[in-house]
Amino acid sequence: MLNTDHFWMPFTANRQFKSKPRMLVAASGMHYTTDDGRQILDGTAGLWCSNAGHCHPKITEAIRHQAGKMDFAPVFQMGHPQAFEAASALVSLAPEGLNRVFFCNDGSEAVDSALKIALAYHRVRGDGMRHRLIGRERAYHGVGFGGIAVGGIAGNRKHFGPALPGVDHLRHPLNIAKNAFSKGLPEHGAEMADELEQRLLALHDPATVAAVIVEPLQGSTGVILPPKGYLQKIRAICDKYGILLIFDEVITGFGRLGTPFGADYFGVVPDMIVCAKGLTNATVPMGAAIVRQDIHDTFMSMAPENTIEFFHGYTYTGHPLASAAAVATIDVYKSEHLFERAAAMAPYFEQAAHSLRGLPYVKDIRNLGLVCGIELDGVPGKPGMRAFDVFLKAFWEKGVLIRTTGDIIALSPPLIIEKSQIDQLFGAIGDILKTQKTVPDVEEAM
Ligand code: PMP
Repeated sequence: MLNTDHFWMPFTANRQFKSKPRMLVAASGMHYTTDDGRQILDGTAGLWCSNAGHCHPKITEAIRHQAGKMDFAPVFQMGHPQAFEAASALVSLAPEGLNRVFFCNDGSEAVDSALKIALAYHRVRGDGMRHRLIGRERAYHGVGFGGIAVGGIAGNRKHFGPALPGVDHLRHPLNIAKNAFSKGLPEHGAEMADELEQRLLALHDPATVAAVIVEPLQGSTGVILPPKGYLQKIRAICDKYGILLIFDEVITGFGRLGTPFGADYFGVVPDMIVCAKGLTNATVPMGAAIVRQDIHDTFMSMAPENTIEFFHGYTYTGHPLASAAAVATIDVYKSEHLFERAAAMAPYFEQAAHSLRGLPYVKDIRNLGLVCGIELDGVPGKPGMRAFDVFLKAFWEKGVLIRTTGDIIALSPPLIIEKSQIDQLFGAIGDILKTQKTVPDVEEAM
């Protein structure tokens, strides 16, 4: 009998588990196996991360091989080939000009590292006045103090005090009244980006702002898409005022939109890209900040001689196992043409998603590439109950893994999903929305 007395589960209402949580014990391709032997179709690529499907043999083998060859090596004032190879592999996918990689262990660290690079970059070139950071409401940038400060989720901030000083937030561009059921990018709302310039001029001296950070597509707070032209405007305003633009592509990276990065899909190149998750197909934790070459070169040319140019790093930066996993993963993405496959499957996914329009509770459906958000107009049950209370058990029993955030169902399947599995996924959601009338006991629901 498994002892469940000691593991404190993250982002979990731990008290709702009477005996033990839902338990996954194995994974392969598009499926998880539960401890009672059932197959669960993975509609969320784990947590938006297993893009090549689970337990890909080439990735598994690369990790196994590396674990037997060299388990760990420091990278402070020395190195190992795997980290350099992983950086080169990552740069081979990145937009032109983003050539330098700073490795971390996850998305939160990658966000904090990118923010630090931005602040230190301005200082090293003698512009230390630039200390402000601008994020957006409803942004998720991980759980480090930098990430929760620039992020825009009340729950992530209100329990922990003020985090970083000098941070401002733009409004998010979701506008259901105008853009409900838009397919692909919403038509209305590019002017929301003008708020950045208005804030700069009205509230801050623009010369005090170091960086703006955005998720090109806000994923975990409910799939909020940038209206057509919005990101272009943000880029132009940052350029006008000498502010660095950081794209947090922890979710949009590695083929989610049918392109290597969201930057490619949107045709907007930021100064830094933050990524994680799909970088190693989520097999070994790893994150990265991919940095414009001349930002890196500025550190090299302007930092005082015989000093460490950027005083930052982690014991596990460029960990050999994670690096080996990244090289193998990127090779799989390329050799199996998974990004192209995602792009080719996107229209079918879109059609299936929008087939739910008109069903009970469905207030909006938003999609791009292989990501989709289904916003519900409340859920059955007592006031204050959210989708995860009500629907998660039903989906679990139906054999599909979905993600809920607020009253939004989010889907982001592995890029290897087949048409029949798309049918199964949306079919299950449709069935549950049509039949879910009663409120399960909350303890039972978990
Ligand atoms: N940024 C974004 C956009 C994310 O979606 C996430 C995780 N969902 C993070 C950062 C944090 O990544 P991690 O959980 O690996 O720290």
